Amino acid sequence: MSVTGAETNGHVVIVVGAGPAGMALAKNMADAGHEVIILNRDIKFGGLAEYGIFPSKLKLRGGLKKQYWDMLEQPNVHYFGNVSVGQGKDLSVEDLQALGASAIAFSIGAQGTKAIGVEGDSASGVFHAKDVVYHFNRLPGFGDRPFDMGKHVAIIGVGDVMVDIAHWLIRYKKVERVTAIARRGPVERKYNPKEIRAVCSNMDQEGIAKEFARIKDRLAAVGQNADEVLTNLTAEFTKCEQTDSPSKMGFRFLASPKRVLVDSNNRVRALEMEENKLEPKGDDTAAVGLKQYYEFPVDSVVFAVGDRVDDTVGLPYKNGVYVTNPTKTGNDPDDALFQAYDEKSGQVVDGVFLAGWARKASEGLVGIAKRDGDWCAEVIARYLGTKGGQPRTGAGDVLAKLQALLKERKSKPVDLEGLKILDAVEKAHAGAPDAIGEFKFASNADMLAHIERGRA
Ligand SMILES: Cc1cc2nc3c(=O)[nH]c(=O)nc-3n(C[C@H](O)[C@H](O)[C@H](O)COP(=O)(O)OP(=O)(O)OC[C@H]3O[C@@H](n4cnc5c(N)ncnc54)[C@H](O)[C@@H]3O)c2cc1C
Repeated sequence: MSVTGAETNGHVVIVVGAGPAGMALAKNMADAGHEVIILNRDIKFGGLAEYGIFPSKLKLRGGLKKQYWDMLEQPNVHYFGNVSVGQGKDLSVEDLQALGASAIAFSIGAQGTKAIGVEGDSASGVFHAKDVVYHFNRLPGFGDRPFDMGKHVAIIGVGDVMVDIAHWLIRYKKVERVTAIARRGPVERKYNPKEIRAVCSNMDQEGIAKEFARIKDRLAAVGQNADEVLTNLTAEFTKCEQTDSPSKMGFRFLASPKRVLVDSNNRVRALEMEENKLEPKGDDTAAVGLKQYYEFPVDSVVFAVGDRVDDTVGLPYKNGVYVTNPTKTGNDPDDALFQAYDEKSGQVVDGVFLAGWARKASEGLVGIAKRDGDWCAEVIARYLGTKGGQPRTGAGDVLAKLQALLKERKSKPVDLEGLKILDAVEKAHAGAPDAIGEFKFASNADMLAHIERGRA
């Protein structure tokens, strides 16, 4: 692969991560006449738009892909897929800093998983939501691994990710039962009512009514009327997508998993739960444990409680997030919120920016990530105009250094031409029996082999 810079008079900006945030940022920078180098861990662009959003949402995914293909066609955009940045990866943060670009933006999403921190959480049958989502979206490393879910699956969390996982378990795995488990009550459920349509034809309405009867006194204690709340919750079960799956889905409210209980093979057999009550907390409520425990039999557990960023990348990190500049600037958007910040030296990391879920883990849908990319582009534009001054190095030089380094590291970057070859091969497999939505190869080796063959 050989790419040369289009020699615009602009700066060279490196964008690490080609999800919705990175692609929006790259587009802004390219439209402003800068040379944009995109480095992406995955061969394909899109991030969670490719490997997170439920695979049957073809309209949403198709619309995003079209925009991304168009952007990558711009002559001042240079795509390098299959290139990871981090300690022990293809390139380190310091490698990037040494390339001479004017700015580097990290839009690498939130790739870490939140520590669950309960006894037994490493048992077989315990999964992180992101891994499951990556599995059914066929992300290399996850798509071709078995995920043995058993008959009864507990999903901890009541947001949209829970619904997507329930969707897959019900529609495609056809498990016997899915139970969504919530620390708080039904009023505090977080999923979008439209999303529940994917699974509401499988709701165990009788079981849900019983669950409400079980917790009604605790709801009443904070002024919530169980009958009304039940009516509201079930009123959302409209326009339910029809399935031939016999799976049943229910909820367990006011329940905190305390321990994962295992059998002699270290396989999940139950959750030990603590009963909670609700207490008012400002305008909201908080769950308070009642120290009453019980066993809840399940075959597997999926923790869908949000993500944290990857602490092995080499960016300043603290408590699950990358550290940003604490000194507000008064600009709108506030530059400080997008600048990486080294607490040890008390200085911003010059020219290093953050956007999207890398800046705020698990926050919002694609539109929010895109807006974050747009905002970050505004901040970088200000930086280039004021602090950055003249371009540090021409695009050709930066690209030449980058290519030499990738060669030295024996990396196998995939460019736009490679992506097009892969796309054509995957489209030719459309209708493959095990594919949900579009066909995808589930391993990098397969993808690279097809690209190689296509180039020959
Ligand atoms: C299960 C699930 C379902 C969702 N469904 C919807 C939906 O239906 N509709 C909707 O609007 N939104 C949905 N979202 C939200 C949406 O996917 C996110 O808002 C959005 O993708 C976040 O964008 P991002 O660019 O910040 O991060 P990401 O999309 O995570 O992209 C990060 C990119 O960085 C790359 N990367 C990661 N680490 C490195 C590294 N070390 N070096 C180089 N590159 C790296 C990755 O390859 C990836 O391309 C869903 C999210 C999830 C988890």
